[in-house]
Amino acid sequence: MKKKDYIKRAKKISKPFRVDGGKGFKLKHFDPDDTLNLKSEDKPKAKEALQDGIELLAELQDMLYAQDRWSVLLIFQAMDAAGKDGAIKHVMSGINPQGCQVFSFKAPSREELDHDFLWRCMKSLPERGRIGIFNRSYYEDTLVVRVHREILVNKRLPKELITKKIWDERFQDIRNFEKYLNRNGTIVRKFFLYVSKDEQKKRFLERIDNPEKNWKFSSADAKERGHWDEYMNAYEEMIRNTATKDSPWYVVPADNKWFTRLVVAAAVIDALASLNLEYPEVGEDKLKELSEAKKLLQ
Ligand code: ATP
Ligand code: MG
Repeated sequence: MKKKDYIKRAKKISKPFRVDGGKGFKLKHFDPDDTLNLKSEDKPKAKEALQDGIELLAELQDMLYAQDRWSVLLIFQAMDAAGKDGAIKHVMSGINPQGCQVFSFKAPSREELDHDFLWRCMKSLPERGRIGIFNRSYYEDTLVVRVHREILVNKRLPKELITKKIWDERFQDIRNFEKYLNRNGTIVRKFFLYVSKDEQKKRFLERIDNPEKNWKFSSADAKERGHWDEYMNAYEEMIRNTATKDSPWYVVPADNKWFTRLVVAAAVIDALASLNLEYPEVGEDKLKELSEAKKLLQ
């Protein structure tokens, strides 16, 4: 298959999950178990397609790096055990580590709490020519903080600023921030790995039963399940308010890991392909330098 056709295929696989306008967005229009009619017997083929995709991704990233103008920010959000880490690991496996930066955002430190909520993420934005990955992000400040309002109070915000409007204000700030990034040459793609409550339970039980996975289990994560519906509401509101044409969300079905990875890889390929990347052309001086160097070497 030609590169052009791979790129077309990537668009086709990722498009059904792309949300580039929030109006009327409902999570219930998506199914965590969706595989676009691919069956489990298609899994080997899907894995092959993923491998091809990863090779193409590496090629595009090489151009991104050489051109050194655009940068790409990929944001991953999800409930626990939805497979963020695995998706990041697989999709980025073919990429030159020099051109890629991953940051994980946990509960904020004292220093981080001493600043506005975008600050710690702002410091970690990808340089030109790089792909930056956020494993969680400033979106947590509209998710976990919304579900557990007491965190908001502990965040040392002046209390006059904690009003009913705070979530709308944050969404507006985020939209503006992402627009600002776009205008400065950073494109943003956001992924919500949408796992079902049942599948999460299965994965937690596996973490308990399998000694090699014990380390991954945290009873705090299991406790958060109690807030499932509140989280889903917060995710829905977040996507409805921050999905834009320039910075779309992808609601990626996450009950089947092989399919999640396929969709994420396809969306990243689509994003890079949209940039019309090219290797920089060298000027006449450089061409002369090259031919002189060749003579010398021969
Ligand atoms: P792992 O797979 O290792 O568990 P993780 O991303 O779940 O990865 P944790 O060490 O569990 O990492 O830490 C993430 C926790 O930090 C989550 O519960 C998340 O809700 C919380 N967190 C992230 N950002 C914020 C924030 N801005 N305010 C409060 N809590 C946050
Ligand atoms: Mg965790």
